[in-house]
Amino acid sequence: MTDLINPATEEVVASVQATDLAAVDAAIERAHIALAAWREVAPGDRARLLRKFADAVDADLENLARLEVANSGHTIGNARWEAGNVRDLLEYYAAAPERLLGKQIPVAGGIDVTFNEPLGVVGIIVPWNFPMPIAAWGFAPALAAGNTVVLKPAELTPLTAIRLGELALQAGIPADVFQVLPGKGSVVGQRFVTHPAVRKVVFTGSTEVGRQIMAGCAAQIKRVTLELGGKNANVVFADADIEKAAATAPYGVFDNAGQDCCARSRILVQRSVFDRFMELLEPAVQGVVVGDPADDTTEMGPLISASHRSTVAGYIEPSTRVAFRGNAPAGPGFWFPPTVVLPSSPTDRVVAEEVFGPVVTVVPFEDERDAVRIANDTDYGLSGSLWTNDLGRALRVSRALEAGNLSVNSHSSVRYWTPFGGFKQSGLGRELGPDGALAFTEVKNVFIATT
Ligand code: NAP
Ligand code: MG
Repeated sequence: MTDLINPATEEVVASVQATDLAAVDAAIERAHIALAAWREVAPGDRARLLRKFADAVDADLENLARLEVANSGHTIGNARWEAGNVRDLLEYYAAAPERLLGKQIPVAGGIDVTFNEPLGVVGIIVPWNFPMPIAAWGFAPALAAGNTVVLKPAELTPLTAIRLGELALQAGIPADVFQVLPGKGSVVGQRFVTHPAVRKVVFTGSTEVGRQIMAGCAAQIKRVTLELGGKNANVVFADADIEKAAATAPYGVFDNAGQDCCARSRILVQRSVFDRFMELLEPAVQGVVVGDPADDTTEMGPLISASHRSTVAGYIEPSTRVAFRGNAPAGPGFWFPPTVVLPSSPTDRVVAEEVFGPVVTVVPFEDERDAVRIANDTDYGLSGSLWTNDLGRALRVSRALEAGNLSVNSHSSVRYWTPFGGFKQSGLGRELGPDGALAFTEVKNVFIATT
């Protein structure tokens, strides 16, 4: 049994039994057997079951949100959004079964058609930072495309995933079509990689583990989607609305206490407005409401664990120049205040590595070319923001940045109906959006002779 700790109080929330290897194998076998019937469910019926699953999530939304607050320390506002995101994903991909359109391609002597066939059993491995959305980004389109799913939540945050598994059954999704297997990455996750009946692994987590997953999948040419880390730039040009850029910058990085692969953790500011930006940023950072995540007005909660807090704290070395900090409660809980750092060199760990906590660096740049050079000077390429009122510049810089998800004069990057994923070492493949279900299919071409 693993004890789960409330990150805001350090109290035990629940204990969960880890799935052992024999039980993982048995679950994968059951998922494999369930496949034959699930892929034959008529498209309209599969759609209806997914909509019922969405309704069950909606009816349980407050419960799911409270579970996430207790297990993960997410603010209640965020947790409600996250549960709603699961519902919306199920609704959106419930429209996919009847729309997995193949092609009819002109040929001589017959007809040629393509089919989008399900892959088989899909293994989904989820990190602790967004337990509900990241699970659903995988399972909603995978189920819609006729696959069965085994899902491993992060060891630290399995409670909402376990509840979603119960809701699926209640909603009428047949047994063994969607199974949640809490447990260790090295046991459950690793078995998804090595078990031949699992035909695709969807992994979200660190680049380090993602690299191992990809290497492991190579042995069976197993399909893989990877959503990995980020060290995303927020580029502020002198011609932008500096007040708005400074007021919103903290929320672009400190949301979910910075434990977000899309966190804009490197702010780049054009030198001519650098001092003005810093003057405006200080009150904005101090205004971030950090505290009890169950309180409706809280904007930032604690970090996930004591060990993660010490990793984050390790980025603030004695020589690190801290410009200013926000607030954090004293007492129990894995708190860390919003922290703004002025790095001394581009190779400082704090500016080169993904901190995954509420720490942001601010550096000046000279001109557009310099901004693009600094923003792209990383192995990651997940997201980013740019602030400018020059339309031409917005488009030029958007095209020049090596990242999968950009926002201009905004920090939003994730919508379930638009594609999401990383360039470079931030990932492989895309999730969400109109093509999301196709990533869980194999194209089959069939020629039928008519003569
Ligand atoms: P992690 O250590 O890579 O773990 C992610 C998941 O993989 C967990 O469920 C973990 O299980 C499992 N795992 C660990 N070792 C494994 C192995 N050898 N084989 C199979 N599965 C294994 O990442 P994390 O620390 O939970 O999450 C933080 C990282 O995720 C950050 O780097 C962040 O940027 C990234 N992330 C990326 C995205 C994105 O969409 N691009 C989204 C969220 C997070 P355990 O629970 O047992 O460790
Ligand atoms: Mg880890």
